[in-house]
Amino acid sequence: MTDSLLCHWCPIQPDTPEHLLLHCHRHHSHHVALLHSLSVIHSHWPTLTDLLDGCTNTNQGFKTLNLTRTFLKKTNQLHRI
Ligand SMILES: [Zn+2]
Repeated sequence: MTDSLLCHWCPIQPDTPEHLLLHCHRHHSHHVALLHSLSVIHSHWPTLTDLLDGCTNTNQGFKTLNLTRTFLKKTNQLHRI
């Protein structure tokens, strides 16, 4: 029996990239900063696909991936993605 499939900080939430990048309470202040930065370059609420895959606009995708990387570095979670 293992609990590795659940978030380390939110025991009832699955430990998924989407939870880590968009929902985990442990990183709330960093989520706010990330979503604020993303709101400048995205006209819609960013999805996990936006954060990890970039998009058809190369410049927008590059900026988004950089912001995602910054979030992961600030939260010390870069090794998990
Ligand atoms: Zn969590």
